[in-house]
Amino acid sequence: MAEWIEFSHDWAYYITPETFDMYKVTGKVPVGSIVLTKTQETLDNDIKITNTDYAIAKSDGVVNLADKRAASKILAKQLVEYMRSHNEYPHNTSFDKAFKNRNVDVLYKASDYDKFKIRLTPEIVGNDPEEFLMNLNIAGKKKFNPQDDWKIEPAKSSRSKCKTCGHNIEKDLLRLGEPTYFQDHLNYKWHHFDCIADDIWGISEDKLSGYGSLGDAEKAKVRKAIWD
Ligand SMILES: [Zn+2]
Repeated sequence: MAEWIEFSHDWAYYITPETFDMYKVTGKVPVGSIVLTKTQETLDNDIKITNTDYAIAKSDGVVNLADKRAASKILAKQLVEYMRSHNEYPHNTSFDKAFKNRNVDVLYKASDYDKFKIRLTPEIVGNDPEEFLMNLNIAGKKKFNPQDDWKIEPAKSSRSKCKTCGHNIEKDLLRLGEPTYFQDHLNYKWHHFDCIADDIWGISEDKLSGYGSLGDAEKAKVRKAIWD
């Protein structure tokens, strides 16, 4: 069991490397955990934004990290350790991208608001990262399996708004429809494809209506993002 140290903050979370779960800080944190502290700032135009600072809990105290990237680097080492000992992905992580130089990005969703791209390099893994990941139990790589069909299509107009980022979806841009029911009537909440692709990773083709009608370039883009 990890050693714990005292730490207090009005609004903070820690990520335990043992499970990659994130918990609210209530007076203490385990040594080795990444600590996220949140502060709210009100801009001139009255818009409130939340700032996140990153730190690591060491046995003699919580030490600030330069930025999110620094936190991701520590998480990368912890992730490899986790994968080595469990032979699978933590439940809230998924494969994101492989690069020509053999680096691999893993997406880690600590919460809806705290997502990390964790880069695994040959140096961190000790061998080829992609091969390392491929040898893990595939069960750890959770595929999205919705109850109802999602929809994919080029936007028919520029009027729909992306429910993920809040911006308009330009006509002809690839959009994803999230099924939603109102009094038994099926409707779709739209998202930019790029904004939500990570969340539907591994969805089966028969749950993605409209895929068969896409053009070749669009099909390739979809395949790369959610099926490769
Ligand atoms: Zn968007």
